[in-house]
Amino acid sequence: MEQTLLHEKTAVLVVDMLHDFVKGALSCTQAREIVAPIRSLLTEARQKKVPVFYCNDCHVPGTDPELKLWGEHAIAGTAGAQVVPELLPCPGDYIIPKHCYSGFFQTELQWLLTTLGIENLIITGLYTNICVRHTAADAFCWGYHIYIPRDCVSAFAPQEFEGDIAYLQTVYGAKIISVDEIK
Ligand code: ZN
Repeated sequence: MEQTLLHEKTAVLVVDMLHDFVKGALSCTQAREIVAPIRSLLTEARQKKVPVFYCNDCHVPGTDPELKLWGEHAIAGTAGAQVVPELLPCPGDYIIPKHCYSGFFQTELQWLLTTLGIENLIITGLYTNICVRHTAADAFCWGYHIYIPRDCVSAFAPQEFEGDIAYLQTVYGAKIISVDEIK
C-alpha cells in the first residue's frame, strides 16, 4: 500500500522545522536527527508532484498565548522563525504561517488541501506531543488519512516518543511507517 502513497491525493506536511526548534531556543538533539530523513522524503515527494506544506510557527509577541507558556520562540520576521537551511522550501511549496500548535488553526491549510483534492497527509516534524499531535488532531477531525514516518518526527523528551506515537496511532488512526516505505 505504501508503495503508492506519493500520488495526487497525498500531501506532505513539515511542522516547525525552524531554526528555533532544530538549533535554537526550543531545540533538542533528536530534532536534528530527523532533518536528513525529511529531506529525502521531500525530494521524493517533489519529484512525484506531491504538494509540500510547511506549517511554521510565526509568533506575534503580545498576542500569541503560546509565548506566555514557552517563552519567546519563532517570532515572526526573525532568524529563529526560518526553516532550517537543509530543508528550505522550493518554488511550488506552500508556506502556512501559524500562531498556535495546529497547522489548521486560523490558517489557509484546510482550504488549500480541499482545493487540491488531498485525502492523505504525511505528517513530519516537531514535536510529537505538541504541534504534530495538534495538527494530527485537526487532520483527523477533517477526515484525512494520516501517515507518520517515525524517523521524520521527534519528541522533545526522547523517553516520551513511543507513548506519543502510540497516542497518534490510537486516537487519530495514524499509520506509523518508516520513510523508506514511502514511494
Ligand atoms: Zn510556538
